[in-house]
Amino acid sequence: MITRRLFCGCLAAALPFAATAVHAQSLECAVFTPDRQKSTTPDDAIARLKAGNERFAAGKSVNCDLMAQVKQTAGRQSPYAAILGCIDSRVPPELVFDQRIGDVFCARVAGAIVNTDIVGSLEYSTKVAGAKAIVVLGHNFCGAIKSAVDDVKLGNITALLKNFQPALATLTKADGHRDSHNDPLVQKVAEASARLTAASLTRRSAIIKQLVEARQLKIAAAMHDITTGKVSWLA
Ligand SMILES: [Zn+2]
Repeated sequence: MITRRLFCGCLAAALPFAATAVHAQSLECAVFTPDRQKSTTPDDAIARLKAGNERFAAGKSVNCDLMAQVKQTAGRQSPYAAILGCIDSRVPPELVFDQRIGDVFCARVAGAIVNTDIVGSLEYSTKVAGAKAIVVLGHNFCGAIKSAVDDVKLGNITALLKNFQPALATLTKADGHRDSHNDPLVQKVAEASARLTAASLTRRSAIIKQLVEARQLKIAAAMHDITTGKVSWLA
């Protein structure tokens, strides 16, 4: 009798949690519609990405029916954010922010740098397609940053690495020997690059500047930690 009572009590206590989890999952699995995108503020967009990374880092990513989302977004996409990230295989933006089909635009290039094509892609993501936030996502132990620190010369990589000159220029003697084995120095360059890249967008694009000034768009810089899965947001 006691066992039965305990069992019933536990079950009754567990049900609200189970129902809440199912409800949260159905909300996360709902695709972004034009109306939902329109009612999302830039702050909502950043908060949504933060919550997604917290789920990912806690091992609680939501499991949605992706093929259902494929069908629901086939006619139109209304992503709420755009992420500029590195090509690094350990930092896939949709996974680390726990996002799915139709949620976010992703531009990926070694070291998350910008050029005319990337800025054009971000203009499309925001001005044309309505995304409310741009996140420049750097990460620790980045091969591109390490190569820039070591001043590697190799094929087209040489030209790519020139994009890190402004971040490298933030280094001082206090940062120690300029070598890719100097982890704090590499991290400093990576963070500076993410910050400078984010800050450069309004200079490089009158369209993005106008959206930010109209408070229709927010730009943020963040760093992903490949050892923990956690994203930290740079001020
Ligand atoms: Zn990288």
